[in-house]
Amino acid sequence: MQLNIQNSFINELPADSNSENQVRKVFEAVFSFVNPTEPSNPKILHTNADLATDIGFSMSDLASSAFLNVFSGKEIYPNTKPFAMCYGGHQFGVWAGQLGDGRAINLFETENNQQKQTLQLKGAGKTPYSRNADGLAVLRSSVREYLCAEAMYHLGVPTTRSLSLITSGDMVLRDILYNGNPAYEKGAIVCRVAPSFIRFGNFEIFASRNDINNLKKLADFTIQQYFPEIHSEGKEKYLAFFKKVAETTLNMVVHWQHVGFVHGVMNTDNMSIHGITIDYGPYGWLEDYNPDWTPNTTDAGQRRYRYGNQPQITLWNLYQLANALYPLINETEGLEAILHAYEEDYDKAYLTMMRNKLGLENTIESDTELIHQLTNNLSIKETDYTIFFRLLSTIQKEDTIETALEKINYSFYHPEEIKDEILNQWQIWFENYLNRLQLETPSDTERKQKMNIVNPKYVLRNFMAQLAIEKADQEDYSLLNELFTLLLKPYDEQPQMEQWFSKRPDWAKEKVGCSMLSCSS
Ligand code: AMP
Ligand code: MG
Repeated sequence: MQLNIQNSFINELPADSNSENQVRKVFEAVFSFVNPTEPSNPKILHTNADLATDIGFSMSDLASSAFLNVFSGKEIYPNTKPFAMCYGGHQFGVWAGQLGDGRAINLFETENNQQKQTLQLKGAGKTPYSRNADGLAVLRSSVREYLCAEAMYHLGVPTTRSLSLITSGDMVLRDILYNGNPAYEKGAIVCRVAPSFIRFGNFEIFASRNDINNLKKLADFTIQQYFPEIHSEGKEKYLAFFKKVAETTLNMVVHWQHVGFVHGVMNTDNMSIHGITIDYGPYGWLEDYNPDWTPNTTDAGQRRYRYGNQPQITLWNLYQLANALYPLINETEGLEAILHAYEEDYDKAYLTMMRNKLGLENTIESDTELIHQLTNNLSIKETDYTIFFRLLSTIQKEDTIETALEKINYSFYHPEEIKDEILNQWQIWFENYLNRLQLETPSDTERKQKMNIVNPKYVLRNFMAQLAIEKADQEDYSLLNELFTLLLKPYDEQPQMEQWFSKRPDWAKEKVGCSMLSCSS
């Protein structure tokens, strides 16, 4: 393996002076050096050839024992020094103090084709930030992270990526539903990739300790490395940085709403400063359209991180980042202007996103009402979000209300319940939509093409990941491979894969791992 290694993070930022791998509070340091724990019998389940090529691996590297050893944590790549980052975070709306990489270990940075990437192992053992946990990850959550990050990437959603999925050969104890039923599960390690893994919480921890010196060092480093377009100095520089993070983070959440992704744990320690989706835990995909839905059982009472609340929580999280950066700026106007712009910018972006989903090119004022009526209808009786929009592209200007309704009928979970007042509401909506289509110039075929590149045919439905996990647990990786391949082209018709263009089966509705997930991973 011949990678172009860079060590800027560890060379330019202050390290924890203590090199013991023991749980502790770490002050005045951005990270601690720590080596992964050696796995007893690592085996590769999957590698991502396309991403590997982008990073600079050859195909023979992927099959080498050196690759297995480095990305399972058995060996350290030459001239690198793995490290865990110190960060804090607001968890479920409350300041939680120091958290840090409890089970993530950054291996090294690389640069290839002018792209900087950090390669990080998740589940490779304890770090000084593991608090009272084991630093490990189980196969089920690793399969979920591995597949979903790539599914998101190919949908066009900003995200971390997945390089490799490896079982450790060690067993890990987990109480899946936190209800007093712990059991051993297979351990696994994912290597994930991002420009960096710096989170909002990396800035918050220094601000919370009034450590302005290190806050500034981290901000200067981040801007210089990852925001080269920022040339201003002093407070303008930090404001420009905040503005960029606010914009990219808004863009990310619009994409989530677009594809029906529910992150599940939008704590500020899970918010990347690159505006990319990070930390795939108890996430889920909308099946029936329900703005109140969250897959995370740990959040079942409050539903803070429900689908419909994600844009608001994004703003709340940006407020926490603004507070953390405030000591570098020392006035509120600039920060407030950026935060105040968020709601209007989000509304605009949402409208554009929904117009695209509906195949509308013109902008007409009444579209807002059309969209509002639609989301209302979608939520009355279980209607599959992905299937509805995919089928909507088959509607033609010549359709009648009845033929249009027939075309999307498969998206209803209980078609027999679409009657009386509910049917009436759908008839009104289709009447309005068909009238609206008359105002569009593109042909039915052109509109269909445009809609099918924004409305995916295939997403990683909760039950699909669960089926792949159950097989993988039996050492059958066929479905893991199949889903990985399927999700490379989520917008394409893949006739041989049509069985995945299907609604959630009944067995999956209340099943653990499908619509119910806890933070246990
Ligand atoms: P999460 O909710 O997964 O984002 O995790 C919140 C915090 O808990 C982060 O600091 C994680 O590193 C840490 N954490 C989660 N699971 C583990 C684990 N099994 N071992 C050590 N730390 C963990
Ligand atoms: Mg996390």
